[in-house]
Amino acid sequence: MLRKKSQRNNSLRKPSSNPKANSISQKPDSIGEPWERIQDYKSHVQSIYKILTKEFGKVETPLTYSKDYELCIAVILSAQCTDERVNQVTPALFSAFTSLESFAKAKPIDIEPYIFSTGFYHNKAKSIVGFAKMLFHEFHSILPKTLDEMTKLPGFGRKTANVVLSEVYGIVEGFVVDTHVRRITFLLGLSQFKDPIRIEKEIMEKVPKKYWDALSLYLIFHGRKTCIANRPKCGECKLSKLCPSKLEV
Ligand code: SF4
Repeated sequence: MLRKKSQRNNSLRKPSSNPKANSISQKPDSIGEPWERIQDYKSHVQSIYKILTKEFGKVETPLTYSKDYELCIAVILSAQCTDERVNQVTPALFSAFTSLESFAKAKPIDIEPYIFSTGFYHNKAKSIVGFAKMLFHEFHSILPKTLDEMTKLPGFGRKTANVVLSEVYGIVEGFVVDTHVRRITFLLGLSQFKDPIRIEKEIMEKVPKKYWDALSLYLIFHGRKTCIANRPKCGECKLSKLCPSKLEV
């Protein structure tokens, strides 16, 4: 989707007193879209990757688990919820339900009290039981190794499936787009889209596969630490020299 280009201007954007004015959906017309101002996409991505690698080093999922199916349940719980909160509720949950079979035999109402604080607990409890039933009965307790099969599991969208495939098997079939990745790929001019499916497709077309896994995690960490939604800390951001959305501070 090509949009009409507005006049280009590399001047820095000034922050607004209204926090929403700094969100990805609002910016002055005069400076053009962030992705329009990237002249050499390949070197832009490489520079971002290099800086974030230096900042975060080796990255892995912050979710705590000891069995593969526990990771799946933790990822289901992480929708619209912080990893910290998920890590707070899973020890009691995994102590109460000690096997995949015990989750498969549970009723959603049995699980709900343990996951209440993660939000959307009715749906998440249904997804967890549905996931456990299908994995136990149809996949004989072995997690599938393809995105197509993985996304048949209840509660598994592309994001969840990509995270689990990468973490459990080291298989990278896609680019994980969560709320941080969605926001920051746009701000950094890595994607012109705001829809996660289109962002994933664009990144997979333009960014070498070897970067997908770590780049996604780096952007998530960067979104939590520095490029925070509606209040990015541009003054202390290590990507500020490369960022077409940098705020003047
Ligand atoms: S300079 Fe950094 S914190 Fe500011 S918008 Fe760009 S990536 Fe986000």
